[in-house]
Amino acid sequence: MAKIEELSQILANQIAAGEVVERPASVVKELLENSIDAGSTKIDIFIEESGLKKIQVIDNGEGIASDDVLNAFKRHATSKIHTREDLFRIRSLGFRGEALPSIASVSEVTLETSTGEEGSYLFLSGGVVKEHKSHSLRKGTSITVENIFFNTPARLKYVKTLQTELANIGDVVNRLAMSHPDISFSLTNDGHRMLRTLGSGDLKQAIAGVYGVNTAKKMIEVSGDDLDFKLTGYVSLPEVTRASRNYISLIINGRYIKNFILNKAIVSGYGSKLMVGRFPIAVLSIQMDPLLVDVNVHPTKQEVRLSKEKELVTLIETSIAKALGEEVLIPRVNDS
Ligand code: ADP
Ligand code: MG
Repeated sequence: MAKIEELSQILANQIAAGEVVERPASVVKELLENSIDAGSTKIDIFIEESGLKKIQVIDNGEGIASDDVLNAFKRHATSKIHTREDLFRIRSLGFRGEALPSIASVSEVTLETSTGEEGSYLFLSGGVVKEHKSHSLRKGTSITVENIFFNTPARLKYVKTLQTELANIGDVVNRLAMSHPDISFSLTNDGHRMLRTLGSGDLKQAIAGVYGVNTAKKMIEVSGDDLDFKLTGYVSLPEVTRASRNYISLIINGRYIKNFILNKAIVSGYGSKLMVGRFPIAVLSIQMDPLLVDVNVHPTKQEVRLSKEKELVTLIETSIAKALGEEVLIPRVNDS
């Protein structure tokens, strides 16, 4: 007798959630990426109890059409890629079509969305649709995630203190805000505003929103390009350092990524200007042909594989060295 069975959608989604939804901050990241992909210019995040009780993301993006509302919660269903070729030219942050079904399978989700012409309201619990009706609203989407991990107690136990979870959420929002200076972000926890960026398109202003005006003032512009890459951003003066690498942000084609080798290149661009054990604050944004970067490495899409990593390392090192060298040459007559 056959004993191999296909898993139910809900069970498959819960298993995927194990990778995609590690903690409340992962929910925030996925929801923000969707809002960014929807062309939003303003994204507001409201959380309660560090996201464990509630996470709400409100955007003014294109919204989801009534016919698509249920599809958005289906596994491997996406509006962002359609063909094999698309997979090699990804310009959106999402493409795997698994965030919403995964999140919904381990929480209670309320979706309110409108394209400007038609709107919908949907409520799901543990991935099961409990209510679905039409709804009028201005253009945009609001997704509220409540009682995360209510049906996966082992994962709930793994969640750290409220303070740690809040720090993780702050980190996610900070990096996405600096990756998208053209979007205005705000983050409010239990009624307290933690972050706001203006969305003016100016990276230095976004950095000021995240690290404060005084820190932003002590950062200098970096730019450089070669045949394959265009690099722009800001790095701190050598005397403005931190004790960890956490203040280094790398953005490739608008996607915040983690890459140890490129992080090291940033530090090595400072030559001997940094003290041992100290690291700069840096926000570097790199534009390249999507064909040169494989983002389909891990479900959270933070790891990427680069085809010309060595060339990029050299560009980062020389651009930073050049920026710091030039800075020293400028006479500081007006500095007080
Ligand atoms: P992916 O982002 O990989 O496509 P998701 O599960 O995150 O998969 O989202 C599924 C689909 O739902 C998206 O492809 C998009 O069409 C739609 N969607 C999700 N969030 C939003 C949003 N905030 N605004 C507009 N459309 C959205
Ligand atoms: Mg997504």
